[in-house]
Amino acid sequence: MPADKEANRPAIRPEPEAASIQPAAVSAPASVPAVVAAAPGVPALTIKGLSVYFGSHQVLKKVSLDIKARAVTAIIGPSGCGKSTFLRALNRMHELIPEARMEGDIHLFGQNIYGRDVEPVIVRRRVGMVFQKSNPFPTMSIAENVTVGLRLNGVRARSVLAERTESALRMVALWDEVKDRLNAPAVSLSGGQQQRLCIARAIVVQPEVILMDEPASALDPLATSKIEELIANLKNEFTIVIVTHNMQQAARISDYTAFFYLGELVEFDRTVKIFTSPSQKQTEDYVTGRFG
Ligand code: ADP
Ligand code: MG
Repeated sequence: MPADKEANRPAIRPEPEAASIQPAAVSAPASVPAVVAAAPGVPALTIKGLSVYFGSHQVLKKVSLDIKARAVTAIIGPSGCGKSTFLRALNRMHELIPEARMEGDIHLFGQNIYGRDVEPVIVRRRVGMVFQKSNPFPTMSIAENVTVGLRLNGVRARSVLAERTESALRMVALWDEVKDRLNAPAVSLSGGQQQRLCIARAIVVQPEVILMDEPASALDPLATSKIEELIANLKNEFTIVIVTHNMQQAARISDYTAFFYLGELVEFDRTVKIFTSPSQKQTEDYVTGRFG
């Protein structure tokens, strides 16, 4: 679809963020596909000329970059520069915001995610999201929070649900802490555990990409380091895009870093390059803490 048609796409009524996770699975096919075993380094997401507007306010300005498969890409930049907006465009979540519209093209492993025949709910299952504030479903148990996406996708066999729950909880290093109380309310967990639970809920439906918007910024240092460790493990299977305002965190956990400023992509490169010898003066000023 040409970009000018995209710009006319009507805004969709807003929904709470947590609620958007549930409908994502409702109309999805009954089976859950296996993870696309993309080779590391091939582009998982190809973003071309992405502009996002809220009403007449242009928040992203012709952003183009490739997100590499099975790697961690960090999005950095001062508050308000468009990091969350960028992330939301990658799984069409901005369509839940009134007034939001976009121009440009985003392909997921070659498929236009804004194509006429592509359902946003399917995109959101293939491109999962984890938010800054952990948002387990409060009326559900620990196990139910993990299995909800599978159940909505028609998975019923208890053995399959149990096996997938365990493997997702192991992957986020939560299994040993919760295996004896899987039926306890999810809200009985600590903040850090709840966030790992939300990551388990995101990965159990086997998305290809996981978007994380400052997933550790509300957590203490120990809980933060656990999140960082599990991200390092997740990238063996998934493609990860993480927004962080913590420079050390970006340097520690990411392979690639994109620096945004006032809605523009100033620089995108390997993380070592961004943090040791960036090409742009603005990037250097930001990563060395001279502004932001
Ligand atoms: P960041 O995540 O980098 O802090 P955001 O992507 O949240 O930045 O915001 C970028 C710009 O878009 C800001 O100017 C913000 O005020 C505006 N913005 C974000 N969300 C909305 C919204 N729902 N409606 C209108 N403007 C918004
Ligand atoms: Mg943000």
